[in-house]
Amino acid sequence: MSTGWTPGVPAPERDDLNTCVQCGLCLPHCPTFRVTGLETSSPRGRIAAMRAVQAGDAPVTGDFTRFTDECLACRACEAACPSSVPYGRLIEAARVQVEANRPAAERTGRRLAIGGVMGHRRLTRLMGWGLAITQALRIDRLLPRRLRFAAPRVTVRGMRQPLAQSSGDGPVAMLLTGCVMDIAFRPVHQATLDALVRAGYRAVLPDGGGCCGALAAHAGERESARALARARIAEMEQADVIVADSAGCSAHMRTYGHLLADDPEWAARAAAVAAKVRDAVEIDAPPGRPVEGRIAVHDACHHLHAQGIGPEVRRTLRAAGATPVDLGDGGRCCGAGGIYNVLEPEMAATLGEQKARAIIATGAPVVAVANPGCAIQIGNHLAALGSDVRVRHPLEIVD
Ligand code: SF4
Ligand code: SF4
Repeated sequence: MSTGWTPGVPAPERDDLNTCVQCGLCLPHCPTFRVTGLETSSPRGRIAAMRAVQAGDAPVTGDFTRFTDECLACRACEAACPSSVPYGRLIEAARVQVEANRPAAERTGRRLAIGGVMGHRRLTRLMGWGLAITQALRIDRLLPRRLRFAAPRVTVRGMRQPLAQSSGDGPVAMLLTGCVMDIAFRPVHQATLDALVRAGYRAVLPDGGGCCGALAAHAGERESARALARARIAEMEQADVIVADSAGCSAHMRTYGHLLADDPEWAARAAAVAAKVRDAVEIDAPPGRPVEGRIAVHDACHHLHAQGIGPEVRRTLRAAGATPVDLGDGGRCCGAGGIYNVLEPEMAATLGEQKARAIIATGAPVVAVANPGCAIQIGNHLAALGSDVRVRHPLEIVD
């Protein structure tokens, strides 16, 4: 069995690994460490494992793959780290190595699902129609639990919902249509387009549209992620502002400059697009309607830890008259993590149930959630506990 990184495949950078001083201050913030109590499930343990491979003392396969797969890439450790270890960058590079060494059959399945279906808008829409029909006929109950818990609720009406763009003057704000958002969360897209108009923008959609590549990047499918980034850059670079109403997408699009830094044709264009990206809750729009009462707030990891976004959600709700209520779980990850809940169903279920219980404990009738993966995971776990708390994007609540 060969040890060390696979040559010719991007790997965690030595300088990034060396910034970790192994103090362990990140451990209490790591959801997988909190569940297992194992060093190998902690950020410090995962970085130590990366260093062992870097030093040529361990292979990328076996235990290393397991430790890496179990990480949610939630970046709570990065936000807590006093030494500014770029953990998000490290885990993405480690996953590129892991994917390059996975057995061919397993790898092909993941590639088809992530790069194939989610990477092509027509195939994503086709999958959406498949979900809408199987869910309407209730034959989705025959699917394994891990797939049912990860699948968005899709309706024929939702799939057909037209999106109203605006015309006229004003700076152009272009909304990312995305993949899952495009089939299951079109009301959120419309609420975002409406908010952009209220904020004085000409709100438009790209010609074509599709996935930003976040799912591919998180799963270690770097070339798929780069191809999708190039497609979105070409479609959206003329806009004055580029808006994403999914925390995972806005966080990922902000990394386009780094993702394509070694591509001479695209590096400058990627950096320019990344600088124009705004998450929808960062748009300073007046509310579309008044809202009364308490709204629980779930902070998506890709808001809180990856972009430092949190006050913006509360400000949006307060501006409409609502009372935002923090959860008593210190902003822990809900366990969705892209397709994590399909690949690591047990850990995802534990974290999903904890999150649903924290939301129910607030007594609020609605929870604000600004990421589709979180919304699906939380909605399914709330339903499994018999709760009728509604899950809504913050802009949907005030639209
Ligand atoms: S990642 Fe940061 S907080 Fe965690 S052990 Fe390393 S230096 Fe300490
Ligand atoms: S990204 Fe999240 S799950 Fe992974 S090591 Fe950091 S805190 Fe733990």
